[in-house]
Amino acid sequence: MSQPAENEATRRAGAILTVDLGAIAANWRGLRDAGRAAGRPIDCAAVLKADAYGTGATMVGPRLAAEGCRQFFVAHLDEGIALRGVVPEHSIYVLNGLLPGTEPDFVEHGLTPVLNHLGQLNAWRAAAQRYNRPLDAVIHIDTGMHRLGFSPEEAQVLAAERGRLRGLRLALLMSHLVASEEPNNPINGEQLSRFRNFVRTMPGAPASLANSSGIFLGPDYHFDLLRPGAALYGINPTPGRPNPMLTTVILRARVLQVRRIDALQTVGYGAAWRSARPSRVATIALGYADGYFRTLINRTHVHLAGHKVPVIGRISMDLVTIDVTDVPEADSQPGALVEVLGPHLTADDLAEHARTNAYEVMTALGRRYARLYHDGATA
Ligand SMILES: *Cc1c(COP(=O)(O)O)cnc(C)c1O
Repeated sequence: MSQPAENEATRRAGAILTVDLGAIAANWRGLRDAGRAAGRPIDCAAVLKADAYGTGATMVGPRLAAEGCRQFFVAHLDEGIALRGVVPEHSIYVLNGLLPGTEPDFVEHGLTPVLNHLGQLNAWRAAAQRYNRPLDAVIHIDTGMHRLGFSPEEAQVLAAERGRLRGLRLALLMSHLVASEEPNNPINGEQLSRFRNFVRTMPGAPASLANSSGIFLGPDYHFDLLRPGAALYGINPTPGRPNPMLTTVILRARVLQVRRIDALQTVGYGAAWRSARPSRVATIALGYADGYFRTLINRTHVHLAGHKVPVIGRISMDLVTIDVTDVPEADSQPGALVEVLGPHLTADDLAEHARTNAYEVMTALGRRYARLYHDGATA
């Protein structure tokens, strides 16, 4: 991934997040084509919740729309309203559903609620009556997550009483997989058969089951619409196997100061790291307030001028210390950019070091970074 030119904001910035919109678009195309490989006319949506997993929903949305994506998912109503400002024409589905009293907001902004129980369906149908026009609706069936979605009993009621959908246009039937990243987990097949049975009772409506990892469970899971989030942003949808997706983000932080310390000196809060030899310690401009987790203490590294450099001592709110003893002084001067996340150390790698998953690493990406967007991978 090439680096775009620096600008005024990045010149001043302590840390810079570079997002490659072209790589996100290429990942979307790759997933869509994987879906189409079985020969059926499958569509591919994009999940842009949590600010497009930290990459910036108002930048990613229009780029994917230009690529041909016509259906978008967010979690919150306000995320949908923000996205509507930059994606004027396409479907935007709000996964968290219809909170009481928000019907006018959905109508005003042309957003589609994902209806998660009969109460929401009734409220949305009443809104369609009030506004005297058909409104789009998505029905979400719970096939095993037990979190959001119509219970099996409610789904039966709906299948038996289709009049409950009067005044609504059924845009999609959907369900969500519990363990799609574990291809051998039998719960995948159980959810698939529950979802199939429900879809059969509601003929004519398009259906969607597969998130990123679900796409890689094979064509049985594809139905009419793929629903990837993580894989668009480069998170590995096939854990334990090589990552088929392109890296989309690079996070770099500047060296603020470099100091020499003797052997047996401690660095940082809690004196949690002690030098075994005379050392050079560089302090860089990011910390846990920027999504660099405290659990990374003495467990990870960064990259500087071709060197793998250990992170040492506790992560502070705004600062991280690294051991640059083995890096030439000329390469570790104040202002030098250290790669924290990127092709050398992916979100999946950092997640392993932090004992979490790459979703949390991405969605925790800080708000203080200068952001650079470019379109590197579209050649
Ligand atoms: C977040 C989410 C997705 C996307 O999941 P990924 O694993 O990030 O691809 C799809 N569907 C629903 C209902 C979700 O909440």
